[in-house]
Amino acid sequence: METEERTSVCKSFTVLLNLIAWMLLVTAVGLGAIHFSECPIQPYIPIYLIIIGGCGIILLMLAYWTNTLHEGFWCQICILSIICISVFSIAWFLTGTVWIYSIYPPSYNSTAVGHYCQRTLYLFAFWFNILGFLYAMAVAELVAKCLQARDMAYCPYSQFPVGAAILTSGGAIITGCNVENASYGLTVCAERTAIQRAVAEGHRSFTAIAVTCDIKDSFVGPCGACRQVLMEFGTEWDIYLTKPDGAYKKTSLRELLPLAFSPAHLAEDGN
Ligand SMILES: [Zn+2]
Repeated sequence: METEERTSVCKSFTVLLNLIAWMLLVTAVGLGAIHFSECPIQPYIPIYLIIIGGCGIILLMLAYWTNTLHEGFWCQICILSIICISVFSIAWFLTGTVWIYSIYPPSYNSTAVGHYCQRTLYLFAFWFNILGFLYAMAVAELVAKCLQARDMAYCPYSQFPVGAAILTSGGAIITGCNVENASYGLTVCAERTAIQRAVAEGHRSFTAIAVTCDIKDSFVGPCGACRQVLMEFGTEWDIYLTKPDGAYKKTSLRELLPLAFSPAHLAEDGN
């Protein structure tokens, strides 16, 4: 029963986040189009909103589509497209920030010819980018915490330190590292240490995890056992595979563990 409740809470939270994302992106495109020529002092702001909103919508649709494809040519095309559009979106986002701040503080006085930017348009663009920066800072903090956690690893046998940092739905970050044992089989991975610690501290709803190790040349994912343990606490995890220099690649639990067995199957079986 508790499992069913937790699964439905996680699903509701995910649906809510997706709804907010869709609303923000559609509003960005709509406001940019409606007030297209109503910011003469910085005419690129409406164009910025239309393109950043459009890119976001395409990225969301590609992400949904990728989740339905498990392997193969189209899956690779989707992932490649997501990477290309993401890189463009980041560059466009930074450019938009320069445009928005170039007229800060704005004047909403329509009588001031040449210094008027439509109020709703400007305020939306301003807060849209602030939210974007807050999101980027949250990811940066998560990545930094997992790098710190790696330094705490107890790995005298493998000399392979791993760090993990989990972001809870409430915004808390819980870290973990691998803890080895002379009886090798008793070793616990960083991801599972973080999960167990988080649960012990009262957290059961999570949105993201960052994982790192000492391998510099490639992005390394959680082991199969840890993927299954993450699945216990929801299917909608964002996973940030992080290199020692802080560079990361975003993926998802659905991508790393397709066709997974989850608590939902036990709930179905009980009905
Ligand atoms: Zn593991």
